[in-house]
Amino acid sequence: MKFISTRGSAPALSFEGALLAALADDGGLFMPETWPQLSPDEIAALAGLDYAGAAYRVMSPFLEGDPCLDDLEEVLSEAYDSFHHPAVAPLAQIGPNSFMLELVHGPTLAFKDLAMQVVSRFMNRALKRRGQRATVVGATSGDTGAAAIEAFRGLDAIDVFILHPKGRVSDVQRRQMTTATEANIHNIAVEGTFDDCQAIVKALFGDRELNARLGLTGINSINFARILAQIAYYFTSAVTLGAPYRPVAFSVPTGNFGDIFAGYAARAMGLPVQRLVIATNLNDSLPRAFASGTYEPQGVIATSSPSMDIQLASNFERLLFELAGRDSARVLSLMEDLRAQGSFTLSQGELGQLCELFSAHSAGEDVTQMTIREVFEETGMVEDPHTAVGVAAAQQETGLGTTPMVVLSTAHAAKFPDAVRQAIGIEPEQPERLTLKLGSEERCTDLPADFATVAGFVVDHARADASLTGAEA
Ligand SMILES: *Cc1c(COP(=O)(O)O)cnc(C)c1O
Repeated sequence: MKFISTRGSAPALSFEGALLAALADDGGLFMPETWPQLSPDEIAALAGLDYAGAAYRVMSPFLEGDPCLDDLEEVLSEAYDSFHHPAVAPLAQIGPNSFMLELVHGPTLAFKDLAMQVVSRFMNRALKRRGQRATVVGATSGDTGAAAIEAFRGLDAIDVFILHPKGRVSDVQRRQMTTATEANIHNIAVEGTFDDCQAIVKALFGDRELNARLGLTGINSINFARILAQIAYYFTSAVTLGAPYRPVAFSVPTGNFGDIFAGYAARAMGLPVQRLVIATNLNDSLPRAFASGTYEPQGVIATSSPSMDIQLASNFERLLFELAGRDSARVLSLMEDLRAQGSFTLSQGELGQLCELFSAHSAGEDVTQMTIREVFEETGMVEDPHTAVGVAAAQQETGLGTTPMVVLSTAHAAKFPDAVRQAIGIEPEQPERLTLKLGSEERCTDLPADFATVAGFVVDHARADASLTGAEA
């Protein structure tokens, strides 16, 4: 399988190449050349497998002919061993025909663990195979950084630099990042906002000389490998609820459109997905696009679900590529509109196709609080604000008939104790594995929101220049 760019002018790469490059040379995102198909019999057969086994069946067709295929079985088994639930991603029933897909049983209590634990292992093995080192640089508003640091700590082919906006991530999120003591992990608290962090990271990637020297790679959801790992739980949950014989709908708390795009991919591979609900908080550029056909990101609004405080959903470009019949000239023209005038407008045909499968609903802060309260009163389950946005959007969805609705639970309530206390008056229980991790000393460097200063720090601390000598761990 080859991976091609949504913008059409970068060379096609193998899975391993796309994994390490993260972003295509022409600024586009990698997509599989075709969608592998799982037949109804193959989907039904997933029912007899454990999570890692099912994930292997879903992911392996994308790795055909790639050296990473030889790593896949071990990578999955190691990655999901660190989860605190034997089913890895269990389903809980929350209503007559609605379910919660619990993606919160990983080491940092958020759904990002499901992919990050896989991507870090793939990268480390691929780099060792090539005798190279790489440098991961990422900006985080909380969850991505914690999941990345947890997944990459101690790996000897990769140094990790995570920028977070100083004082703007939750206490738990910060300590999840800064209490990692391994030498390859570097936390930078930027004196600025998340947008400042992201701008610095983008500038680092845009600097060709630095990029090559540091072997820069990205681990946010523009990396197709992350999306690939997320396709698996759409299959396992749907099969539990009767697929391939019965369709399923999903409501997905959405920020960068990575997770929900994995749901689209599952459907493109043959899973009977009847509807994908894009659930957003007040940052509602996607729901607005559904109503008007015009996508026009505005200023980011801070909410109680910070991991979804995103207006510019990077992975939406992947869906545009699909809606445009994989015409990269059309993608380029939409992206150019977005750059030049801050918006683009879909054609009637594109909008019609979009609305056939997707719908989009946004939930404000009051609704989010009320939903946490309702779910607690009706089921006794304590949900975090991100998950609550997903539940609220699912409740706005009508016309599904007897199709079961699965809400993706993307973070554990213990990560957002303040919002939960506000909603139901009690503090969510802190799982022991979180308490144990948060006990130790914090390591973090404060830097101004200045490209040159941050770049200098990364250059001084990255080992990418040094050769990776032999060590096979
Ligand atoms: C990252 C994140 C999301 C959004 O996922 P995307 O793939 O960016 O759409 C939702 N909820 C939580 C808790 C997250 O950490």
